[in-house]
Amino acid sequence: MQGLMMDAPLLVSGILTHAERNHAHQEIVTRLVEGGIHRYTFGDCARRTAQLAHALQEMGVKPGDRIGVMGWNTHRQLELYYAISGIGAVCHTINPKLGPQNAAFVMNHAEDRFVFFDTTFAPLVQALRPHLSGVERYVAMTTEEETAKLGVGVDCYETLLEGKPERFDWPSFDENTAAAMCYTSGTTGQPKGVLYSHRALVLQCFAALLPTSFGAGAGDTILPVVPMFHVNAWGVPYSALMIGMKLVMPGPGLDGKSLHELITTEGVTFAVGVPTVWLNLLAHVEENGLDLGRLRYTLVGGAALSRKIIDGYEKYGVRTRQGWGMTEMSPTGTVNFDGPGFYDLPHDERIEVQLRQGKALPFVDMRIVSDAGEELPWDGKSDGHLHVRGPWILSSYYKAEEPTLTDDGWFDTGDVCVIHPDGRMQITDRAKDVIKSGGEWISTIDIENVGLSHPAVAQAAAIGMPHPKWQERPLLIVQLKDGAAASTDDIKDFVNEKLPRISQVDDVQAVDEIPLGATGKVLKTELRKTFADYQLPDLR
Ligand code: AMP
Repeated sequence: MQGLMMDAPLLVSGILTHAERNHAHQEIVTRLVEGGIHRYTFGDCARRTAQLAHALQEMGVKPGDRIGVMGWNTHRQLELYYAISGIGAVCHTINPKLGPQNAAFVMNHAEDRFVFFDTTFAPLVQALRPHLSGVERYVAMTTEEETAKLGVGVDCYETLLEGKPERFDWPSFDENTAAAMCYTSGTTGQPKGVLYSHRALVLQCFAALLPTSFGAGAGDTILPVVPMFHVNAWGVPYSALMIGMKLVMPGPGLDGKSLHELITTEGVTFAVGVPTVWLNLLAHVEENGLDLGRLRYTLVGGAALSRKIIDGYEKYGVRTRQGWGMTEMSPTGTVNFDGPGFYDLPHDERIEVQLRQGKALPFVDMRIVSDAGEELPWDGKSDGHLHVRGPWILSSYYKAEEPTLTDDGWFDTGDVCVIHPDGRMQITDRAKDVIKSGGEWISTIDIENVGLSHPAVAQAAAIGMPHPKWQERPLLIVQLKDGAAASTDDIKDFVNEKLPRISQVDDVQAVDEIPLGATGKVLKTELRKTFADYQLPDLR
């Protein structure tokens, strides 16, 4: 028997309409690319988004067209998010740090018809233009004055909006229509396209807003430091508008000083981003004897949370939650919710639990599978490949030539994990990064966390080096803090004292700079190339 409910589609435009009607006076604050701070309300945002939708239609944008956007987190990119998907087109956010070759690849692969960009990326866009035959127009997301400086062949965002009607009758269509698109960061192999449906984005927005998920609420002022060009800034542009949270956009100012300024002057209470960002901010606050104003929570994801961040921020009264997800998962899969009684646990016991990636959001289904394909128990000990499925997890990469899912319909995340009996998932490695010694998995994450806790270490990365007896043994590569002096032998003694025998590193090597990828993650592929001729001490 069918239920007798209306078949109303879950569309992204519904979030904007709700925000305009119910939270019209809430603020959106942006650090502008042009310099200075821009401030307006959800109501203003809805009116300008309507103007933009009219402008897009006038430009000839049709449902299903891909529109490339290469920009910082700003009010203009927010307007693009809503206007493009609102008219049934696809907002293709492009990671400018992918490098020219990958950027050209993704824009051609997506077949972007129009490209919107921040002036910071004008030189990159200029260099890409000869390689983008399908792009009809380029629009600089700035004022007329700034656009004029870029020379001919570029339209001005603000001019496009001028004089357009401030209301738009958002169309209704199938909720499975694509709303947005993002390519995987491509640290291994060619970037792959992920197409988000309206339904997936709206459902994920609801799930992220549950009190047991991110934990941000209506009274919060939220700062998404995670870029809007990387998996929709973890959905914050949708969730902030859904419940009327004040939204603070950092623009291009992602350094410790700029973030600190914005957090304290705008009263940010909840901030979201990758670990590197939080380490930089912490260093700035510590070095300058500052405080963190009203900040009460950071949500850390994209890479493993470290004890250094948890303890460092707690000194300033800020708690840390960890989330885990992927471009392929819109992105959130789990959050380590610190529920009632969590902070009453003995400190070390609590940190051990807090370093886990967390419990699945409702409707995200997880399983662990051994190399032999057997499903493993959630006992906190059995580790294997993490598979997921659910309504905001991809069914196929865009234009995929091979099936994306397993034969029985799961997505293999490439992460290796254990799941504890309480449901908390804990990543122990990436399948491609895994160090397997004598048939046992060794967690590079554990080694890196211990490495990072050495006072002289700024960045740490563990990779597996070939070993005739053990197949692989861990090498720890460190980048020292500016001005710090510590010998690699000291660091080796320090980490090995803290690690279980199997994980103890065979050697420590220092480099001037550990290479980071476009999303701030260590490029192990590069490190492996650098150390291709290296031999572990007992083999020399
Ligand atoms: P991306 O698609 O670029 O966001 O990368 C997704 C991958 O980042 C995941 O498959 C994990 O390997 C890693 N990742 C994301 N969040 C975490 C986390 N909290 N801890 C450890 N690794 C993470």
